[in-house]
Amino acid sequence: MPHRLAITNTTLLTMDERLGDLVGADLVVEDGVITAVGAGVAPADAEEVLDGTGRIVVPGFVDSHRHMWLAVLRGRGADQTLPEYFADVLGHCGSLLTPEDVGVGTALSALTALDAGITTVQDVANINDRPGRTEAAVAALRESGLRAVFAFGHSAMGEDRPDHGGLSEAGVRRLAELLPDRGARVRMGLCVDAFTPEAARWNWALAGELDVPVVLHCLGGRGGLEPSDLRDLGVFGPRAVFVHGTGLDAAELAVLAESGAALSVAPVVEMLMGHGTPPLAAALEAGLRPTLGTDVESTGPGDMFSQMRSGLQSARHTALHGPGAPGRDEPPPRLMTSRQALEAATINGARALGMADEIGSLTPGKQADLVVLRADRPGIAPVHDPVGAVVQSADRGDVETVLVAGRAVKRDGRLLRDPTDLLARAGRVRDRLSR
Ligand SMILES: [Zn+2]
Repeated sequence: MPHRLAITNTTLLTMDERLGDLVGADLVVEDGVITAVGAGVAPADAEEVLDGTGRIVVPGFVDSHRHMWLAVLRGRGADQTLPEYFADVLGHCGSLLTPEDVGVGTALSALTALDAGITTVQDVANINDRPGRTEAAVAALRESGLRAVFAFGHSAMGEDRPDHGGLSEAGVRRLAELLPDRGARVRMGLCVDAFTPEAARWNWALAGELDVPVVLHCLGGRGGLEPSDLRDLGVFGPRAVFVHGTGLDAAELAVLAESGAALSVAPVVEMLMGHGTPPLAAALEAGLRPTLGTDVESTGPGDMFSQMRSGLQSARHTALHGPGAPGRDEPPPRLMTSRQALEAATINGARALGMADEIGSLTPGKQADLVVLRADRPGIAPVHDPVGAVVQSADRGDVETVLVAGRAVKRDGRLLRDPTDLLARAGRVRDRLSR
């Protein structure tokens, strides 16, 4: 007999266009997979039953761009701009951290994510240019219970890098041996940031040969390689996540939309650190399905509620008051909605990571990665509109239960892994760096 878990009498925001939002519904999980959603579908003899009354259930959030090791530097760069971040976080701190520190940061970031209902992360691991770090980060991810794409990358930034962003073949091949299964809970990707056409060709060819997805930073409008340059080089295809895109014009966004590549926006960090205007409104206009990322916990928060709110605020403000906004007598602009923000934080992220047939919606047949939110407390009740409640009112403290592949990582508002030891180790790294 399979192990069956049922969540009963609840509100399901399935994020599946065919299923929609279901009120007073049940959700059934068998051996880690969602097998049924709808009214009265819970079996009477399920081994485990969660009463979903007063709760809202959403798919686990998908964070498509997070540098996980930086959790060990949490808040250190709260007021940093991008050049200050390069110098202090990547340069100064990045050169001092041991492999163990990278493991502590990655584990802490994973715990932070799971606590807030993020069940899948693309870890843009820009740390792999020193021995032992790759292994430490991968071990932390495997132990964490989080679903993850570990995107191997290097930390040095700028065109003065001797290899102009070409990835170390030996390092990449070691990782391919460490993570051979392309469908595993922790799987491999590559961060293909490059500053010359030669380095771009090299990185993308490596990804193609190993059959892994890629992620890359692309601000646009600052002299670097743009989507159309990469298209003209013949290197890029649909299994790519472009990060930020703050300076990409409509034509470049159209190149992304045509290619099937994804755009991951990090609204909090982009506005705080000076990347530019988060391009959510422009991406939606271009026909993209934008995703969200937390990016760097050295500056911003590690949850998706902040990203959804910040993204929505910036998109609506830009459409109403930014360049090209309609005048007083013109028809109002199309405004991003709370539902689009929730899509960006769930199903769009799953699509971006090539995982839409596994996660991202509460669809029978998909993995049971889901979040049960308390919706009966001050701050979120009364619920008039469950999507609005999740996007505008919910917070980490409302995350009651989190499942990854049906396995609880948080229950009754408490993480199942005791963070005490991890926090003590992170504190010791902080003390060492601040000496
Ligand atoms: Zn990044």
